[in-house]
Amino acid sequence: MSQPYVEHPFAGVRRATREVPVGDVGVGGSNPLRVQSMTTTNTLDTQATADQVQRLVDVGCEIVRITAPGQKEAQNLGAIATELGRRGVRVPLVADIHFAPNAAMIAAEHVEKIRINPGNYADKKKFAVLEYSDAEYAEEVERVAQRFRPLVRRCKELGRAMRIGTNHGSLSDRIMNRYGDTPAGMVESALEFLDVCENEGFGDVVFSMKSSNAQVAIQAYRLLAARLAERAAASRLADLPFHLGVTEAGDGVDARVKSAIGIGSLLEDGIGDTIRVSLTEDPVKEVPVARALARRYDARFAAGSKPDAAAAAGERIWLETVDPYVHERRATRELACGTTRLGGDRDVRVELDLGPVPTDAGSAARELRTSLAAQPDVGCEGVGVAVSGAAAQARVAPFQMALRDAGIEAPLVVAVPAEEAAAVAPAAGRIAVPVPGEGGTPPQALSDAARAADSAGVPLEWMLCGPDVEALVDAALAAGASRPLFSVASNHPVHAVRRMVARLAARGCDAPVVLRHRSDATLDAESALLAAGTDLGAPLCDGVGDAVVLSGFGDAGRTVALGYRILQGARLRTTWTEFISCPSCGRTLFDLEETTARIKARTGHLDGVKIAIMGCIVNGPGEMADADFGYVGSGPASVNLYVGKELVERNVPTEESDDRLVELIRKHGRWKDPAD
Ligand code: SF4
Repeated sequence: MSQPYVEHPFAGVRRATREVPVGDVGVGGSNPLRVQSMTTTNTLDTQATADQVQRLVDVGCEIVRITAPGQKEAQNLGAIATELGRRGVRVPLVADIHFAPNAAMIAAEHVEKIRINPGNYADKKKFAVLEYSDAEYAEEVERVAQRFRPLVRRCKELGRAMRIGTNHGSLSDRIMNRYGDTPAGMVESALEFLDVCENEGFGDVVFSMKSSNAQVAIQAYRLLAARLAERAAASRLADLPFHLGVTEAGDGVDARVKSAIGIGSLLEDGIGDTIRVSLTEDPVKEVPVARALARRYDARFAAGSKPDAAAAAGERIWLETVDPYVHERRATRELACGTTRLGGDRDVRVELDLGPVPTDAGSAARELRTSLAAQPDVGCEGVGVAVSGAAAQARVAPFQMALRDAGIEAPLVVAVPAEEAAAVAPAAGRIAVPVPGEGGTPPQALSDAARAADSAGVPLEWMLCGPDVEALVDAALAAGASRPLFSVASNHPVHAVRRMVARLAARGCDAPVVLRHRSDATLDAESALLAAGTDLGAPLCDGVGDAVVLSGFGDAGRTVALGYRILQGARLRTTWTEFISCPSCGRTLFDLEETTARIKARTGHLDGVKIAIMGCIVNGPGEMADADFGYVGSGPASVNLYVGKELVERNVPTEESDDRLVELIRKHGRWKDPAD
């Protein structure tokens, strides 16, 4: 790419966009991040849909999307808008269109914005493998443009906005054959539609690049930002706003974590103007999640993050060394850490930080064992304690023994001031030494700590804790530990980690990186969860991180499990079944929330298996992305079952469907019985 996806990867400067008016709500420009959601009612049921829209508006939803699967539903959007007007509910409505250009033309008469999916606006999905010559390909693009152009003209006449909403799972056969199932294909798909808008002089357009895979979503949005920047010299539409989302994220903690990783990573880049969090739950629950994500960045964007001139060299190194469009884990050396190993090709480790070393070693270790035992799917791979002063130092060895007595073999990671490192290193699996900024620990003390770690044969994690990250890296490297690791504490951890890694790259150092996250006690539980998802997930998606360390979330077992959920959400380490479930909409043929809960209870233990649960056969099969098995509503009381993209059982009665899905998984060798 001739243009980077972001100019200042260390600052999160907001991508400059134009304002697109959606009714009387502006998206992009200097507007705050807009929060939106989508109804799940039948669009022909005017009262039920108006009720749900009203409930969404009551909790702060600023734009509401409603499905318009056909012309009747598109027509009824007018009745819904009228009913909302009668109730005094003012909110822009968006018609969601798939496979139905005629419905789009009708909907444009009634609502403020039309969402089209370039993968199916004028293409039927047949999963066909075709070879196109360049001339045939161009002909196809022109055919699509002809179908699309009337809608663009009508939107322009009526002052409607449009979203060109690409989904990873529903790219057209034409795009799939040329670009594959890739971020590049997603971007190309959107740009073909943008060209029509450009030719018609229509610029009230917003983009989305959604995927159920957070990594793919991040890569696609970044690639689109870069491609638009590249077109800026020749295009008037290079500054269009972005609608962010991770689609089919599922429900519960996993869906929130996945959304925080995908959406939060992009907001850290300064990319994004409006957010929809997609949950297989009551849509009203989507709004506070989106609002919490937006809240973190609205203040930053309003304050206008300034690029740090001193960091410019590091930013260049980051942009040159980290490919933002492909996930590649940063190459690090492997280190022994107690009984485990860390870095290199090892899985990213999950550790727990307990804070000050316990005074009652035995009961603390037993309590930890009980809490971890309640999460049998996961293991704690490092236990952190903090030590300062002689009394605390004396508690390290007894706590180490108490952990062993309790059957906890995880290495003890002891955070200790440099001056005290020698006293605790022999009893530790790793020591973690703070490197404060100017006027902090003298270089001699850091060197002494490095010597203490080396002579005890343990790795030393340098915990950088000051704004001048580059100088802190240099100070730590000068101390000369032979088995170093690095972590950094900052109010903007994603950017601080990037700075640290760029400096390590500049110094030719392949030390592993530890990502530490302490829950902010001032946040509510949901916001704390989202912050962890972003602050740990964003670096992981950048390919950085050999261990994650969590603290401050209360129950130890659940805290460790959260670490594993973040690794699964970032697609780095799979512990449970991955569920890709649609949020449901007016097309849905069964109770998705209830069905998802039922299927999860039967199959949630199948690590490495991806199961899609989709509400309808119109969009479901196309949107299942890379699921191994699909469970898709085919009628009011029946489902179709898929293996990959292949339909293998049609119209299975709902009462038999769960058993038949399990049988199918068994038949394909992916089943295992749940642990007791
Ligand atoms: S897959 Fe789900 S959200 Fe998508 S159109 Fe069908 S029912 Fe609606």
